Amino acid sequence: LELEPYRNPAIPLPADIFPNRRNSAGIDLSDPLEREPLLDRLHELESRHWHAEPTFASGADAEIAPINKPHDLTAEVGTRRDTLDFEVEEAITRAERIQHGWNALGGERRALLLEEAADLFEEHTDEFLSLCQREAGKTLQDAILELREAVDFLRYYAGEARRLFESSMPLPGPTGEENRLTLAGRGVFATISPWNFPLAIFIGPAAAALAAGNTVVAKPAEQTPLIAALAVRLCHEAGIPEEAFQLLPGAGDVGEFITSDPRIAGVAFTGSTQTAQAINRSLAARDGPIATFIAETGGQNAMIVDSTALPEQVTRDVVASAFQSAGQRCSALRVLHIQDEVYDEMLAMIRGAFEALTIGNPENLSTDVGPVIDPDAKAALERHVARRKKGGMPVWRRRLHRGANAGCFVAPTIIEIDSILDLKRENFGPVLHVVRYKSSDLGRVVEEINATGFGLTMGLHSRNDDTRAFVEARAKVGNFYVNRNQIGAVVESQPFGGEGLSGTGPKAGGPHYVARFATERVVCIDT
Ligand code: GLU
Repeated sequence: LELEPYRNPAIPLPADIFPNRRNSAGIDLSDPLEREPLLDRLHELESRHWHAEPTFASGADAEIAPINKPHDLTAEVGTRRDTLDFEVEEAITRAERIQHGWNALGGERRALLLEEAADLFEEHTDEFLSLCQREAGKTLQDAILELREAVDFLRYYAGEARRLFESSMPLPGPTGEENRLTLAGRGVFATISPWNFPLAIFIGPAAAALAAGNTVVAKPAEQTPLIAALAVRLCHEAGIPEEAFQLLPGAGDVGEFITSDPRIAGVAFTGSTQTAQAINRSLAARDGPIATFIAETGGQNAMIVDSTALPEQVTRDVVASAFQSAGQRCSALRVLHIQDEVYDEMLAMIRGAFEALTIGNPENLSTDVGPVIDPDAKAALERHVARRKKGGMPVWRRRLHRGANAGCFVAPTIIEIDSILDLKRENFGPVLHVVRYKSSDLGRVVEEINATGFGLTMGLHSRNDDTRAFVEARAKVGNFYVNRNQIGAVVESQPFGGEGLSGTGPKAGGPHYVARFATERVVCIDT
């Protein structure tokens, strides 16, 4: 049965209105004419020292924390000046005061400002790439993908500001009245963003909130405030008022203080499920208006490989899904299920490719797997691997390079387990678990994957259409990928977000996202 996609005829899709919008092209590292000058420019930025502080920092004394490279903890990239409680309160007051005016600007003018910011981001490509590498430990390829996504978010949400906020939608008036529906900003939005996409997921939710007519107080991850500070500065240069988009750097306590303020109308959070649950509880405990909560959290993401899959393709896609970005993507593959008949052959090929990965300094072009973000992340992953080893299951680990002790390196690891339900939590790093299953047990495998409660990404490698339809119909995940890797969702083409323990559902980079930051108002006029 072929179903026509559901379309509300009153709401055009972005592609109907902006058929010429294109995602950014990025940089082709295989082309020496692009690559070599870029490497020279990045070399020049190697010693630049950066600083992040609140947009309206007072003169009061506050903690200054060093930000060091994850791959070399002795190398300082910059400093973070934390936001004090009274500065948070003042920031929200300023953001609240200007919100009406920002909303009244209308969709078109907000769109122009976001597009100007996107242009400035592209002009500052070198600085962003340098910071992605030095502050977050990303490989150059990952850094390029991250900047592209950030620019795409800005332009796509600018289009959404025009599409959804420039005019009201007329509604049927069988009673002879004039009825119309308008979307408007809710008020001051707090965005709390993660270190694993320190630019794209910092700017994405903030841009969506701004597009919808909210003002934003933004708390970047404590590990990666420097790249966020550059992003906010360029947004201000683009003409977005400082009061409308404020940076509030700090650790978790700053985030807690922001979300406990009853003047915050909504929170957009990306990070761990536990923190999302804590924010949810704190929002529920507040007095005042009921806040909107948009959360994108973790996953226990699985891939299923059956005997019809192509081994070379599986190998390529498993290695990318599990080990690219050092496994530090919410979308990353954590538990690979391989059908019994092809298990040994597939695992041997995957292990072969795994042995060929280059681990090391992400500032070297040849590196495939860089560091994890900090010593705590490393310790948690090492505890997990040690427990599994003690349990007696086969564990394969790569040996680390010389000098790895200076940074937060975790040797890429493959662990055999009996069932996805043996894992109690997400392990956020380069650790892949593998399960053997019998084809008659496919239904049980999908049930177990669903029983984890997470629902972010799932991969399937199969040439059998019935298997695809069977798994697709049962998979409770936000993003289901067939015969490819399961990371790297593309703005507009693969809106991204999960369900259950993986988040509250809105899909970043999709046609319903920006409206979730808005409130709906109906005006009815008796003519
Ligand atoms: N959107 C990213 C991807 O598709 C993952 C985002 C995240 O890690 O939060 O790989």
